[in-house]
Amino acid sequence: MIVNLEAKVSALEAATWLESAGVCRHRVYAWRSEGRITQVGQRGRSPLYRWGDVLEAEAETRMSGLSHRTSGCRSCERAAERERDLVPA
Ligand SMILES: [Zn+2]
Repeated sequence: MIVNLEAKVSALEAATWLESAGVCRHRVYAWRSEGRITQVGQRGRSPLYRWGDVLEAEAETRMSGLSHRTSGCRSCERAAERERDLVPA
């Protein structure tokens, strides 16, 4: 857990943390397209985001009841469908 709100994290780092917190990792990409998190730097080819913004977006998502791993996430729903198809009846 990163405590410095001004720390810069890549989308992948943020997604990994979110997953460990029980939030769908795809949310990071949704937040990015919604403009909730904005790029504050760059490391190699990876855009970096402000950690405090990630936490804020996560808290808002949690309070809106969307924190469930798959609820409202089409990427997760598609993955779940694929899994169902793979499990023999
Ligand atoms: Zn998802």
